[in-house]
Amino acid sequence: MRPVCVITGASGGIGAATARLAAARGYDLALSYNGNKAAAEAVAADARKAGARAEIYRADVAKPGDIEALFTAVDRDFGRIDALVNNAGVVDMAARVTDFTHDRLRRMFDINVIGAMLAAKEAVLRMQAQGSGGSIVNISSVAARLGSANEFVDYAASKAAIDTFTKGLANEVATDGIRVNSLRPGLIETEIHAKGGEPDRAERLAVNVPMKRVGTADEVADAVLYLLSDQASYVTGAFLDVSGGR
Ligand code: NAP
Repeated sequence: MRPVCVITGASGGIGAATARLAAARGYDLALSYNGNKAAAEAVAADARKAGARAEIYRADVAKPGDIEALFTAVDRDFGRIDALVNNAGVVDMAARVTDFTHDRLRRMFDINVIGAMLAAKEAVLRMQAQGSGGSIVNISSVAARLGSANEFVDYAASKAAIDTFTKGLANEVATDGIRVNSLRPGLIETEIHAKGGEPDRAERLAVNVPMKRVGTADEVADAVLYLLSDQASYVTGAFLDVSGGR
């Protein structure tokens, strides 16, 4: 039986690369997207070509009702959950803390933190009921330890919250055989930089990376699949940086 993996924000970037690799590694896939249905369909089509069962679901992770509906639909369509990749996330336009607004902070924390926590809650409830363990990978960022001054201190703080959540949840569910880890990408070439108003941001900052280059979504996906797999059977509550040394 193929294990079932839920990936949030699977319509682009790291989520899409993770979905394609997970299909090749033998997972069936429940893929969520927010605005880009066509892109999610294309990812699901590739996953099916690789032999996976793949379904797509629209769910804004900032809306608790959407998250509940997502997991109810996964219950209906797949009947179980073995893995969750909490990947959906956003940045905002570069700004100093003195320019932050309440609306900006609410959006950032609703999507990056509360959405991920509620998705993990729904996954854990099902994994505990199944009684056969499971694996959760939270996509954090090296920003959690860098702080992202003058750019995205709010984003960095949201990812630090995810790291702390990873550690606490990992300890809470360890005896259920559920492993929870954070994957912290560095500068990765995806659309997220354009959405933050600077399409060339990753290339511009690559000079600060010890390896002197940006990373690819496929390189992140490889590490996610490791953390999901039995090869990481003694790894929980850990933070794995995929950042070229940054
Ligand atoms: P991306 O290319 O912009 O993709 C983001 C994904 O998240 C898309 O599938 C998008 O869905 C989804 N999403 C956005 N808002 C959502 C919402 N409210 N509800 C549900 N889904 C939502 O970004 P990425 O670079 O792959 O980022 C993926 C994760 O990696 C994020 O958590 C990000 O913080 C983290 N990360 C990225 C980098 C980097 O350099 N790229 C570095 C460190 C960490 P739609 O397109 O369908 O709206």
